[in-house]
Amino acid sequence: MGSGRFAPSPSGELHLGNLRTAILAWLFARSTSRGFLMRVEDLDRARAGAEELQLADLAAIGLTWDGEVVRQSERSGLYAEALGSLRARGLLYECFCTRRDISEASSAPHAAPGTYPGTCRDLTDAERAAKRGLRPAAWRLRTEAETFTVTDVLHGQYTGVVDDFVVLRNDGVPAYNLAVVVDDAAQGIDQVVRGDDLLSSAPRQAYLARMLGAEPPAYAHVPLALNAAGKRLAKRDGSVTLGRLASVGIDAAAARAMILASLGLPGDSLSAALAVFDPALLPTQPWVFTTDPGAHASGKPIGWPS
Ligand SMILES: [Zn+2]
Repeated sequence: MGSGRFAPSPSGELHLGNLRTAILAWLFARSTSRGFLMRVEDLDRARAGAEELQLADLAAIGLTWDGEVVRQSERSGLYAEALGSLRARGLLYECFCTRRDISEASSAPHAAPGTYPGTCRDLTDAERAAKRGLRPAAWRLRTEAETFTVTDVLHGQYTGVVDDFVVLRNDGVPAYNLAVVVDDAAQGIDQVVRGDDLLSSAPRQAYLARMLGAEPPAYAHVPLALNAAGKRLAKRDGSVTLGRLASVGIDAAAARAMILASLGLPGDSLSAALAVFDPALLPTQPWVFTTDPGAHASGKPIGWPS
């Protein structure tokens, strides 16, 4: 049996929605006798001190993980190796498109929305040489499939678009889709639990895993936490981080109890929740927060769930 994981981006404090996803990832992993790994996805948007704060908050709600924390910023050799293997097999090509080029081309009537239309796929050597002088290239994967199907514990068989997506950005940073796939394979991760905003990325990632000779993981894309306006929960939504909750008298154990209650699980401890955890009984709808100033005045924090 492999492992599950939680993989936060250290761009700021975790909010209750992030912590809830982390608890779910832990419950899925531990309830299937898997290891549970912690990976910091710090190739982009890393803010000084955020990793320490995030790991402290995860520990404060009782999460434990196996082995050392892995940081993507320390694994550039692995990504370079995977890119080299794909390039040697003729599976990568340079793309010189700007965002605007792509949005204009992909808004054409025949194109699937949000997909790369293949503009640079068949450039001649001379065309490429000319474009290299104008702007740095990103590298895209030359895909054969148009769609790929993954299996998700909560969503069943999910089929999504696989276009020629970027694997190396034009600033030289490995793309998120590449780093995730390489890391999951290298770390023996065979179960990926994360927010359902990433469900549409799963087919591309599973396809890439196959291209790199790895078995795609089992997926569970879990509902997000939303604010009262129906938008994804964010730190500006009030008392939604452990730090802010502590300032209104809600400690980490109480925050955990709130999260577990939102999942229909007993709130005393993670082990009590684990004992009765069943993915089939999880709520299928997002966890909606209200931000009622009246509730705040009465001593309840803004951000208390409805
Ligand atoms: Zn292009």
